[in-house]
Parts: sequence; C-alpha cells; structure tokens
Amino acid sequence: MERKVALVGIGKIARDQHVPAIAASPEWELAATVSRAGSVDGVPAYTDLTTMLADRPEIGVVSLCLPPVPRFAYAEAALLAGRHVMLEKPPGATLAEVHALTAMAAEAGLTLFATWHSRMAHGVAEARSWLADRIVRRAHITWREDVRKWHPGQDWVFEPGGMGVFDPGINALSILTAILPKPVHLTGATLTFPENRQTPIAARLVFTGGVSADFDWRQEGPQTWDIEVETDGDTLTLRRGGAVLETSDGVYSEGPDHEYPNLYARMADLVASGQSEADLAPMVHVADALTLGRRDFTEAFHF
Ligand code: NAP
Repeated sequence: MERKVALVGIGKIARDQHVPAIAASPEWELAATVSRAGSVDGVPAYTDLTTMLADRPEIGVVSLCLPPVPRFAYAEAALLAGRHVMLEKPPGATLAEVHALTAMAAEAGLTLFATWHSRMAHGVAEARSWLADRIVRRAHITWREDVRKWHPGQDWVFEPGGMGVFDPGINALSILTAILPKPVHLTGATLTFPENRQTPIAARLVFTGGVSADFDWRQEGPQTWDIEVETDGDTLTLRRGGAVLETSDGVYSEGPDHEYPNLYARMADLVASGQSEADLAPMVHVADALTLGRRDFTEAFHF
C-alpha cells in the first residue's frame, strides 16, 4: 500500500526533486502540500501546517523542504502531532535543534530522517567500499558553482543560519564523511564574506589526515563538484557530485541521478522498521569552520 506524504515548502527543491521522486515511486502518494504560495496540480493544498495536521490524520509522513531556519518549528509540530518526519539538508540551522528533534522522535517512537541527498549519488557507495581497507594519504574537495544559477534570488542563503557557500559545500562534506575509512576533524578555515552579507561566499578548509576543501560560489561557466582521494596505492576521484567514480586501478562507473528516489525508498524502509537516521557529521564540520574560521571580506554580492 502507498504511504501518504505531505510536502511542506513548495519551492525550488520541492518542485525540482521531491514532487517527481514521489510521483515516480510506487511506495508513496503525495497527499497534501503546505505552502504559503505554492501548490502542486491535483494535490490538496494547505497554507498552514496546523490545519493540514488536524484535517488529514491519515497522512503519516511530513517531508520538510523549507530552508533550515524556519524548519525546526515545522518539524517539532509534525512530531508532536505523531507524524514521521523527513528533513532536507542541512537538517537544521543549529546542531542543538537537530539533537532536540532526534530526542523528540525517539521518545514518541517516530522516524526522523535527516537526509543527505548527495550520499545517494551513484558512485558514493562504491567509493566507500573501495576505500574501506586502504590508507588515505590526502584528499581534496573542489566544490565551485554559481550561486546565481542554483539559488536565484534566494536571499535566505546569505542570512544568519543560511550557511552561505556551506549550503552546497555540506553536500561534499556529506560524501566525505560517508566514504573516508577514518573520521577527520577540521583544524583551520578561511571564510570569505561579501561585505554586505552575513554568510560566506567562499571557504577554504583544512582537516586532519591531509584533507582539504575549496568551496566557492562565484564560479561561472563549467561547474565543479569533485573529490579526489590519494591512498598509499591508488587514487580515487568522484566527479559531478558523486555521479562519476574513477580510480587509477581501472574502476570507472557512471550512473543516472537517483538521489531523491533513493531518499524516499530509504524513508519507507526506516518507517517500516521503526528506525531513525540523523547523522550530523557533515554539519559538525560546518559548525567547526564557522567557529574556527579566519574571516576576510570581498566585494558586495547582489543577485
Ligand atoms: P526555496 O525555494 O527558497 O524555499 C523553499 C520553500 O520554503 C519556499 O518556496 C517557501 O515556501 C518556504 N519558505 C521559505 N522561507 C520560509 C519561511 N521563513 N517560513 C516558512 N516557509 C518558508 O529553497 P530551496 O532551494 O527549495 O531549498 C530548501 C532546502 O532544500 C534548503 O535546505 C536547501 O539546502 C535544500 N536543497 C536545495 C537544493 C537546490 O538546488 N535549491 C538542492 C538540494 C537541497 P512558501 O513560501 O510557498 O511557503
């Protein structure tokens, strides 16, 4: 039987990924939307969550596609109303609020799934097994994209809690923390803030274990989402956000984008088995960078 899900926050990611992933899944039915302005053709639309929760007790799962800052209040309300909750990445504006949601879900016997869509990219699981019994000597992330292309007009990314360039950078960190055989921690960072904004537009990070990262939101033309890992023997490269895996010992693997269908399949499994999943490792690195980072400033940024 299909599980009924309500989507909250009908913006860019809901339209680009969640709506098509749910429509293509035999396990899920989009039973309602909650959005101040948006709706999906043929789906009952609500403008506030409280009314939807009261009117539609048969909807067991709420999937939150809002930006991180407003998301906590919605997640809390859904859990208090006895619904399982799926969170877009990053799972919250702060670590503490995600810990609070995790405790709330556990106490109520509900599923909380803090999703990391990039971990579902084609090459990630294979990269993890290829690296599992190797020694990593060095790793470098290059995540350079054009904020005007991917976040057109979304001022929230430059407001406190919007995370700036860490909004895409955390996707790279979600992959890194999934594939490295041993955890690393951040030892230094340089964060570049536009003089008129509250969050960084670029960041350079240094971690233990020879790991480093270069995030930049000012890249026009070709976009780069690469992770290169050197081991004591061969080298592994993930390109195009994890869609392509290549190693110097001859592995080449490239696959279609099934990130969001895989997230919904995982959510169905978690609900069926009564489990939660909320790995905060990628967000710990971002919090550490914002804590330890040296700040510099660049010209004002306008969309
Ligand atoms: P968005 O389009 O700017 O916002 C999504 C929706 O959230 C908006 O349409 C709005 O819906 C609602 N919303 C925004 N601010 C709100 C507020 N203060 N209170 C209540 N509702 C509010 O953002 P997005 O690009 O979809 O990103 C949402 C999340 O998905 C972020 O955490 C982002 O990191 C993640 N994500 C985005 C992308 C991407 O390519 N953009 C990719 C992967 C993941 P209504 O006004 O209709 O209520």
